[in-house]
Amino acid sequence: MEEVSMRVAVRIRPLCRGEILEDEEVCVQIVDGQHQVKVNTPEEVINFDHAFGPNLTQKDVFDTCVHPLVPRFIEGCNTTVFTYGQTGSGKTYTMGTLGIIPRAIDDIFNLLNEKKGIKYSLATYYIEIYNEELRDLLEKKNDMNIILRDDKWGNTECAVNTKKDLLHFLEEGSTRRRVGNTLLRKRSSRSHTIFTIFLRQQRGHSQKTKDGIVKGEEIISKFTFIDLAGHERMGRSENKMRFNESININKSLSTLAQVISSLAIPNTDKAHIPFRNSKLTRILKDSLEGNAKTVMIVCINPASTLDTLTSLKYANQAR
Ligand code: ADP
Ligand code: MG
Repeated sequence: MEEVSMRVAVRIRPLCRGEILEDEEVCVQIVDGQHQVKVNTPEEVINFDHAFGPNLTQKDVFDTCVHPLVPRFIEGCNTTVFTYGQTGSGKTYTMGTLGIIPRAIDDIFNLLNEKKGIKYSLATYYIEIYNEELRDLLEKKNDMNIILRDDKWGNTECAVNTKKDLLHFLEEGSTRRRVGNTLLRKRSSRSHTIFTIFLRQQRGHSQKTKDGIVKGEEIISKFTFIDLAGHERMGRSENKMRFNESININKSLSTLAQVISSLAIPNTDKAHIPFRNSKLTRILKDSLEGNAKTVMIVCINPASTLDTLTSLKYANQAR
């Protein structure tokens, strides 16, 4: 497969029980194998790198979209996966504890174990951005701004020794997110969550020469998983707080689209890429630049035309 830095996939979830009982109509389907999506009204066909219909499984999505990134990550590239779409479209199902992240963790450890003799260490953080404020879902850090100042390997992450540790952090943070959601009504659909795995590898041995000790090369790479805030149209009856949330969500999602599309233009003047316009893009800066590999998975509720079209157009802008 051709190596490109950004791929965009679409996943249409099945109608859920309630929607079937309410006779909701399916207004979007996959045509032409695995690459095109057709929206019924207004009729429109849109091309993607991959398109997954309602019968395809979590494993299918993982194997096609994310599995190929794992060796890149181990080689030292930054790799990133997004889920994007309206609330209820399947973003958390696709990304979270039932979906991509635990499979990626499994893959990462398998590959590291195969590579006998490499020296590495791992760390993680799991954060939420709500209304442009950061919250630590692992409740380990007291200064979240460190992540914004210098999102590299520092004192901000939790060290990880085993696969079990990493899965435990994922569970812990996801539970904390759900609990926050119940208490603050739907807050989690209004926040971005970012789960990051850091890998530090030592290549080559330290050697004693006449100039002193020469250290082997150290390579650090990040695998970042982002479950984006729901992309909804703003309702007319929103109260002030919800209105402000919507403004911040729209701003960060549109900044993300601008950043991704400017990165796709060869020889863009880096100084003009608007990374600093939102917390999300500030944090993701080095995950998207350079030789980074990114996959955007657009999740679709098959019964909702207008938001579906908005989502598909957003994703196409990012290609
Ligand atoms: P979002 O995070 O986009 O708001 P969720 O991931 O919470 O949406 O999904 C909404 C509902 O649909 C959940 O009950 C989830 O289990 C279900 N769901 C989502 N995608 C699928 C799928 N591909 N297959 C079966 N059920 C799904
Ligand atoms: Mg969700």
